[in-house]
Amino acid sequence: MSIKNLSIILAMAAMLTTLAACALEETGDPQAEPEPAESTAPAEAEKPEPEPETDPVQVPEAGLQKLDQGEDVKMLQRALNEIGYSIPENGMYDEITTWAVTDFQLQQENLAALGVFNEETRTAMESVFSAGEAVEAGAGLPQDVPASGEGDDTRMLMNPYDQLALVNKQQALPANYTPQDMVVPDIAFPFTEDLPKKQMRATAAAALEELFAAAEEAGLDLFAQSGYRSYDRQDYLFASYSEQHGEKAANKFSARPGESEHQTGLTMDVTSPEVNFQLTTDFAKTDEGKWLTDHAADFGFIIRYPKGSEDITGYQYEPWHLRYVGEKAAQAIAEEGITLEEYLGEVE
Ligand SMILES: [Zn+2]
Repeated sequence: MSIKNLSIILAMAAMLTTLAACALEETGDPQAEPEPAESTAPAEAEKPEPEPETDPVQVPEAGLQKLDQGEDVKMLQRALNEIGYSIPENGMYDEITTWAVTDFQLQQENLAALGVFNEETRTAMESVFSAGEAVEAGAGLPQDVPASGEGDDTRMLMNPYDQLALVNKQQALPANYTPQDMVVPDIAFPFTEDLPKKQMRATAAAALEELFAAAEEAGLDLFAQSGYRSYDRQDYLFASYSEQHGEKAANKFSARPGESEHQTGLTMDVTSPEVNFQLTTDFAKTDEGKWLTDHAADFGFIIRYPKGSEDITGYQYEPWHLRYVGEKAAQAIAEEGITLEEYLGEVE
């Protein structure tokens, strides 16, 4: 580049600087009058509070159980995960949530293990939180499903403690399941021997005592005939019924071992003097039988094998067989006139 050219360029640059300065004078100071788009928008809109990185973990209000859905259930699942579980936080009180609650209950002292998130369980969970403790998931109730018997298409229940455990010809209780919280309810039996069949799990026993007291107040004469039955006892009974009637016929009124609800400790067969303390469908026609149909649900019980439901339950009508499921489920089942299978959405 020659010196002459350089001076021309410098002269032009000087002119451009002057022009730029003139332009600035005409429009004023750009700093004093910023572009409207940049200035007004952020000032008018409320800026949302930034989400805290982690919310403090909360324990929901008590009164949640299987099949419940919503934010409270999600809160419960989150609390369970916080103390050592790793379950999906899907807001659905499903099988795995029921398992986690039951497993937690089995690891606490004096908590009824029924899989229901009740007031006692809530209190226990809060004290685990405040002590900064954790639980070992599965230490109370191992999560692996036991293998079913040989040549058998029956599934094994992973959670036999569940208040809503479905025990039928498709789902069996493990042979070694014996409820640990059984008591003899303070009600009338037509025999005096101290037999294991007088027993029920404590929560069901307390509810049955209330039911019997209410029946008595209504002037009725209810008696309890048969509650808890062990796997071995059922094995013996089914074998002898099969011998008398043939296995297929026997299975219409008697369960194979593991498939009897009586092993849950949540069941009681009831009867009355009017039918000579027998377990017969005639019981439905007695005042006691009619009263039960109308009032069992108020105490958390259902008539487990209703009339005309044999193809769903697998058993003929048994107006005497009461199963404890808790008040919420019992009310829904009675109101809708359905079976436990239908309530749980498990109709084959
Ligand atoms: Zn029964």
